[in-house]
Amino acid sequence: MNPKNVKPESIAAQALGWVDEATRAIAPPIHTATTYLRDPDNQYRSGRVYARDHNPSFDQAEAMLRELEQGEEALLFSSGMAAATAVFLALSPGDHVLAPRVMYWSLRNWLMKFATHWGLRVELIDTHDIDELKRRLQPGKTRLVWLETPANPLWTITDIAAVCEAAHAAGARVAVDSTVATPVLTLPLTLDADVVMHSATKYLNGHSDVIAGALVTKRKDEYWQRVRAVRAQIGGVLGPFEAWLLTRGMRTLFPRVRHASAAAQRIAEHFANHANIREVMYPGLPGFPGHDIAARQMQGGFGGMLSICVRGGETAAIATAANVNLWKRATSLGGVESLIEHRASVEGAGTPAPVDLLRLSVGLEHVDDLIADLDAALEQAHE
Ligand SMILES: *Cc1c(COP(=O)(O)O)cnc(C)c1O
Repeated sequence: MNPKNVKPESIAAQALGWVDEATRAIAPPIHTATTYLRDPDNQYRSGRVYARDHNPSFDQAEAMLRELEQGEEALLFSSGMAAATAVFLALSPGDHVLAPRVMYWSLRNWLMKFATHWGLRVELIDTHDIDELKRRLQPGKTRLVWLETPANPLWTITDIAAVCEAAHAAGARVAVDSTVATPVLTLPLTLDADVVMHSATKYLNGHSDVIAGALVTKRKDEYWQRVRAVRAQIGGVLGPFEAWLLTRGMRTLFPRVRHASAAAQRIAEHFANHANIREVMYPGLPGFPGHDIAARQMQGGFGGMLSICVRGGETAAIATAANVNLWKRATSLGGVESLIEHRASVEGAGTPAPVDLLRLSVGLEHVDDLIADLDAALEQAHE
């Protein structure tokens, strides 16, 4: 398969059409070797030395991600956090970094508690507010702007192209956590971002059975070589079986994400003017702040994630989550089964999530069943 001649759906469905050279198998083998034979003349012509950084089991998933994100190179990591932190650890102590106030909470905690201690000057701002971003960029000092769009758990939308224009003018790189959008809906590198990050644990794998992360770069420059070195030396690499599962999961990425987006849109519309709901947060609703940007930036849907704020406050929200039958009360997102979670309980102090907010990850069940289950749970919570 020449990936330049086919649509991304075809790249994903056939995992680039690779066939195992040795056996003609159309599913890849799993390589468990930790070390590789050196040639008699002392060379390593295979290009592989030791499996902390080199494992053929990564190749197919990395090549798929490189093609789907239209980048120059992709790297798998042992988790989304390992991928995201590598982006920051490849900077230097003293560098100034801008990151969003509304973002994946565990990374925000790491930035504020570890990265600042390590010497990065981290400032949390409203990255979706271009005027604020321009005021906070320090030309020549700001080295990185981190974005997440749509951003957990309020689904705040950031205009990637506008941020890239301002950041690049100030000499800063832009990295985008695109876990929620996936390459099905948004291609940050084509909007001029420098690096895309994924928690591959979520939609890319899609079955809630692998922890994995990935980065894709627009350019294999000196900075990217440092990112590579962070992975090789700190050793946050994926296991071969997990890489195999991820490759398999990505083959169904497009139909899964499209189904979840269409179902989330229906659920958002159903609950938007519902007696037991105070607010629905979903970029696909015309009244949602950032909807117009999302409509331009996201192709073919607004994603499978939304939040509902329940009338009656925290007690009613927690009672609603307690009353569902079909939805699963669990953290995480992007799997085949739909999940519901009271976010403030998870994030604790400093969370931007209102106490009446329930985060919903829409899976592949029939949307009518999901709506009926949530309707009944809300009804029961408000009796
Ligand atoms: C889950 C998640 C992460 C962290 O990824 P892990 O694979 O859990 O380490 C980062 N960003 C977003 C948006 C996530 O949902």
